[in-house]
Order: sequence, then C-alpha cells, then structure tokens
Amino acid sequence: MRITCPHCGERGLQEFLYHGDATVMRPRDGGAEPTQEWTDYVYFRDNPNGAHRELWYHNAGCHAWLVVTRDLRSHEILGVEAAHDVALRRSA
Ligand SMILES: [Zn+2]
Repeated sequence: MRITCPHCGERGLQEFLYHGDATVMRPRDGGAEPTQEWTDYVYFRDNPNGAHRELWYHNAGCHAWLVVTRDLRSHEILGVEAAHDVALRRSA
C-alpha cells in the first residue's frame, strides 16, 4: 500500500503510523460521572464495509497528521487530506 502525502508525494506504507479512526470526536467534558457519550467514544468503533476515514502520521517524512480515506475491502486509498485542513473545516 502507498499513501500520497499532500506535502511529500507518494510514499511507502512503512513511512506512516496508523493512529485510528478519524471519525470519532472527543466529547465535551460533562463532569465526573461517566456518560453514554464517553462510553461510546472510548469503547465502540464502527467497522464499515467500504470507505473509512483514518488518522495517519507521516513519521519518516514531514511529520504531518493526515486523514486517509481507505476502502477497507480492497485497501485502495480513496483520498488523503492534511488533518489540519479537516479540523479547520469542522470548526468553521
Ligand atoms: Zn509527508
């Protein structure tokens, strides 16, 4: 598998570290009592049969955080974005 970093171009998988599901959002602090929202955030993840957004780190390159959209059936990379750009869109 090869990932095209927006800063460095196409690179081998060994240059990157996988850091999990990019679709989960940390809940706001709601106090000392655990909530269902926190339980879902900590323990439960979707396992889609198709495209999935993942967080990757370009460890042996530019050290950028990336959001990679990957088809979990074929491992085809469908898109790569800088995580910073994704975060800016979420906050807009
Ligand atoms: Zn890079």
